Amino acid sequence: MAGRLPPARRATLAALHDEHSGSLIDQALLLYFPAPDSFTGEDCLEIQHHGSIAVARLLADVLGAMPELQPAEPGEFTKRAFLNGKLDLTQAEGLADLIEASTAAQARAALRQLAGAQGRLYDGWREDILQALAMLEAEIDFAAEEEVPEALWHTLAPRLTETAAAIRCHLDDGHKGERLRTGLDIAVIGAPNVGKSSLVNALARRDVAIVTAMPGTTRDIIEVAIDLEGLPVTLLDTAGLRDSDDPIELEGIARAKARAKAADIRLRVVDDPGTFNSRGLEHGPTLTVLNKADLWAPASVPEGALAVSATSGIGLGELWSRLAREARALLPSEDAVLLTRVRHRSALSDAEAALTRAMAVGGAADLGLLAEEIRLAARAIGRLTGAFGVEDILDRVFATFCIGK
Ligand code: GDP
Repeated sequence: MAGRLPPARRATLAALHDEHSGSLIDQALLLYFPAPDSFTGEDCLEIQHHGSIAVARLLADVLGAMPELQPAEPGEFTKRAFLNGKLDLTQAEGLADLIEASTAAQARAALRQLAGAQGRLYDGWREDILQALAMLEAEIDFAAEEEVPEALWHTLAPRLTETAAAIRCHLDDGHKGERLRTGLDIAVIGAPNVGKSSLVNALARRDVAIVTAMPGTTRDIIEVAIDLEGLPVTLLDTAGLRDSDDPIELEGIARAKARAKAADIRLRVVDDPGTFNSRGLEHGPTLTVLNKADLWAPASVPEGALAVSATSGIGLGELWSRLAREARALLPSEDAVLLTRVRHRSALSDAEAALTRAMAVGGAADLGLLAEEIRLAARAIGRLTGAFGVEDILDRVFATFCIGK
């Protein structure tokens, strides 16, 4: 395999040989990206071979025998790109999300994060905090007093208040970014036999849930992932919710109830116009539908009721649009900078808490104490973008990638 490198960034056809045995391994395309203009920032040679297990194994053997080469760990390329300053940590996470994205909205959000929108926002806050810190440290170095001078506090206080408020506002997003990343749960609830499983099947347009005329046959919760007009949604079929003496069934029912309670949206199904307006104990967004519309004369359907039929398809288009509208209201707007992970939330909460403590001690504080709180705030944001002290979290961030990314 020894030989000349192909020209930079030009696909070049090459015959790859095992240099010991001289035998041909494959005809492959080579792409050479010299440092620093590669994804990782290092010299990189991409080999596009024919992909069979045999060729991959032969190539791995030959390359693995070269002492200067080693197999990539999960996320190795992205980790190297981060360590070489090509990406910040939020961009690396955006790339992981893009690879995992299953709907258009998730892919668009991940692309925005990969393009650095999140990192730029957080870097801006960190910069503001570091400027405040620099002023305090200059004072610590040169001032005779240990207390914060009043003039300096008048300069710092509005800046710190503004940054803390911006972080608080970003945190107070109703978990929309996290919801978009992990998807929304819609629990389908209602009495046995009203047609919940049939409706889930009709919405999923495939036979996933068990559909039966016997009440309570679906003991557990059934999850069906759907792409609701580009939004990631999981339908939870809770068809088996009824009283029982069977401990296994009871456990299933308890789990189903807890899951349905925690769902983002509830789709309540009734099959009798007389029960349409009766309210259950639902919390949060709930859409009620009258199923089996094929059995009811239009005149018996209550005013404003959404009448559907899982079996004949009546009203399903309208139900689909209404569910999409409810889901969209819980998800972020297209151009929002999103907080997508618990890691982001906890780092920003730490930063906000440190700034709030700094504001509380305020001008009465001694310089060192105030500087320490502000330093903590800057560090918390630094950990978020990877600008500061992240060695211990790198493995966790990159372990979620697959090998070769
Ligand atoms: P679940 O217990 O609420 O999940 O109810 P299923 O989906 O198992 O449905 C119970 C029965 O109602 C089955 O026999 C279905 O075929 C029937 N069913 C469901 N939807 C409709 C509908 O829109 N019209 C009619 N006529 N029957 C339906």
